[in-house]
Amino acid sequence: MSALSRLHDKVALVSGAASGIGLATARRLTEEGACVVLADLDAETGASRAEELGTDRAHFAELDVTDPGSWAAVVHRSLDRFGQLDGLVNCAGVGGGGSLCETSEEDWRRVMSVNLDGVFFGMRAALPALLERETSSVVNISSIAGLVGFKGSAAYAASKWGVHGLTKTAALELGEHGVRVNSVHPGSIATPLTAGLTRGIGQIPAGRVGAPEEIAHLVVHLVSDESRFTNGASIAVDGGETAGNSLRGLL
Ligand code: NAP
Repeated sequence: MSALSRLHDKVALVSGAASGIGLATARRLTEEGACVVLADLDAETGASRAEELGTDRAHFAELDVTDPGSWAAVVHRSLDRFGQLDGLVNCAGVGGGGSLCETSEEDWRRVMSVNLDGVFFGMRAALPALLERETSSVVNISSIAGLVGFKGSAAYAASKWGVHGLTKTAALELGEHGVRVNSVHPGSIATPLTAGLTRGIGQIPAGRVGAPEEIAHLVVHLVSDESRFTNGASIAVDGGETAGNSLRGLL
């Protein structure tokens, strides 16, 4: 890998990397020269995806983001394999739950546990290694449901707003130590997570859903030193869906 590659000296850990946005991110990171630990619950798929990306710079580790012990083991394994950690991408996530009145306590806890606890545990586990580097980066994958209300997805929206707030707070606390923390807020992206959903394309100025790679491009920028003055940002990648309402254009 050429020393001119954008990420030739970087090592990143990506949760939820067996599928969708996490997988696209792991792929783009390796294409730009990084070494990547793909971490996911789904060990069989994750291991074969890591193999496809090349065992010299991609490594799979089984991870349950809801378990702090599992995070500690994966960070340890990442350091064993690649010797350093410059980037953490918290991408694992689940949907479901329903509206405020429909959401069971069990669903509420499940969604919060993966989407919000998982990010909290991940940052805490990776932080000692990230602080060892002169500059490092955490990218938390929230959602446009963490920027606006999301009718029919009470737990999901609450978890993604939680990620948004945790990101801003961590950015304030860690910035002076060289660790940048930013959140990315995807709109409607075609992945297994959204495969069964009916989409409101009419609300998207771009007139289409996005591809996982369109999120991955931004994550590469945020992991790289190109973004060294970007900290505490919340960036929507949504084809314009949350830019505002366009009703006035219809009058
Ligand atoms: P995806 O294709 O379903 O990928 C999510 C991955 O996370 C899956 O491999 C899943 O494994 C894994 N995962 C679930 N629970 C886990 C746990 N406890 N520990 C470790 N890994 C776990 O979904 P995606 O669409 O790429 O979503 C990625 C992230 O983007 C999520 O945080 C999601 O909320 C966010 N997002 C997606 C969209 C969209 O339109 N797709 C929009 C906004 C935000 P299993 O398959 O085994 O469960």
